[in-house]
Amino acid sequence: MTMPSGVTPKEIASAMDWIDLHEQEIPKNQRIRKFTLLRDNDKKKQYPPKFVIRKAYSLLRESGWAGIFSGGNETNNFLIKKGFKVWDRARRKFVGLEAVDENPEKIFKEGRVLAQFKKHIWIERHGSVPKHAKEIRLKSDPQLHCDVCGFSFVENYGEIGAEFIEAHHKIPLGRIRRERNTKIRDIALVCSNCHRMLHRSNPLLKAEKLRKLVRSYKQK
Ligand SMILES: [Zn+2]
Ligand SMILES: [Zn+2]
Repeated sequence: MTMPSGVTPKEIASAMDWIDLHEQEIPKNQRIRKFTLLRDNDKKKQYPPKFVIRKAYSLLRESGWAGIFSGGNETNNFLIKKGFKVWDRARRKFVGLEAVDENPEKIFKEGRVLAQFKKHIWIERHGSVPKHAKEIRLKSDPQLHCDVCGFSFVENYGEIGAEFIEAHHKIPLGRIRRERNTKIRDIALVCSNCHRMLHRSNPLLKAEKLRKLVRSYKQK
């Protein structure tokens, strides 16, 4: 399991500032549970530890941290070593450095998930099938509209957006064996926003499902 590298205490403080202003935007499943991260030892200001780390990483970088790390001890140790205080809500005490759960089966599983995720991304970016899918699509839709939301880069950005679209592999993680088993129908062509949204959930959200979501929100 890999913690985000290069995250400084200052960035963690910025993530807390962000949360102070955008608390409602924290996804429900990433809000405070067992442990809280305190600010200036002040129990009035509490933050969800794992979310803070991910936020700290992504605030100043172009993309989020793709690695997988667990909440609990791994996350707490990371923060404590950087000088922060973590509070155990049930036991009502400060958390100290603890051994990380070394359950090999769990680590193997997470490592495998990460490897599969990397393979997924690699095929999307460099695979020949995505390239081919794009070429075929260009013939029927030269503006390359997003399969999910209908956005077109060339219509919105002009020349610089011509022939740009991202390929998304629809087969769930773990089922992709080799690129040569990929078929054109396994590829969705999507804009960068929709692509990020598709990858936000695990298991991957289906392109069709996201399309319905976008439609229902647009009508409101
Ligand atoms: Zn889109
Ligand atoms: Zn994708």
